[in-house]
Amino acid sequence: MSETLQVSDLSVRYGAAQALAEVSFEIPPNSALAVLGPNGAGKSTLARALSGLVPKAGGTVRFGDRDLTKLSPAKVRRAGLVHLPEGRGVFPGLTVLENLRMGLAVDKGRRAEGLDRAFTLFPVLGERRRQLAGTLSGGEQQMLSLARALMIEPKLVIADEMSLGLAPKLVDLIFESLGRARSAGVSVLLIEQFAGRALDFADQCLILQRGRTSWSGPADAAGEELLHRYLGEA
Ligand code: ATP
Repeated sequence: MSETLQVSDLSVRYGAAQALAEVSFEIPPNSALAVLGPNGAGKSTLARALSGLVPKAGGTVRFGDRDLTKLSPAKVRRAGLVHLPEGRGVFPGLTVLENLRMGLAVDKGRRAEGLDRAFTLFPVLGERRRQLAGTLSGGEQQMLSLARALMIEPKLVIADEMSLGLAPKLVDLIFESLGRARSAGVSVLLIEQFAGRALDFADQCLILQRGRTSWSGPADAAGEELLHRYLGEA
């Protein structure tokens, strides 16, 4: 059911500034790619270009036998790619339950099943189902965003800095949920500014610097020396 994401020579410009320059990689079915890089390296731009939110200046994006290069965000989503943006993207004026329902098609059976799964994975969302999403804590909003994305049974999740600002326990929970989604056949593109956990989770790693690929390879080959050289951390 899963497909390979194939990104070839992807470039993005903001006016005269080249934010992404000829970036290429593949995510095979049921696997995870960690995209690392310092601030401003182009990680979020990559996520936005894949999901159709910013126009591509060049290159192609294919998912299985489909060409997603020129598709709108809604069509990319329908093809099975779900983007969890940095900054959460929940609807603050709607309740937890309303936010979750928005993620689902009208089919009542599937909706009930999806809600059950979401509340089992994140019990706190069940407890707070009638609370306005805008009044949830940052970590709870991240959980809601992830729960909503998983409810539509995506084939690939693009998770942009999901752990930003979260307490270590919540970060564990987010990774655990992504791990479960992966066991259920979902591929993951994981964007992280900090490397450790992302590399533990991922199969492959891509390091961006100033919009270009500075290193790519198996996640377990991205050793301390390499991270120090490219990210200034070890
Ligand atoms: P961070 O880790 O800080 O979130 P990032 O790797 O996600 O950084 P991007 O947000 O993709 O980096 O930004 C890449 C470059 O493009 C940066 O120099 C940024 O200032 C620039 N940029 C991003 N969005 C725009 C925009 N809408 N208009 C102009 N420049 C932009």
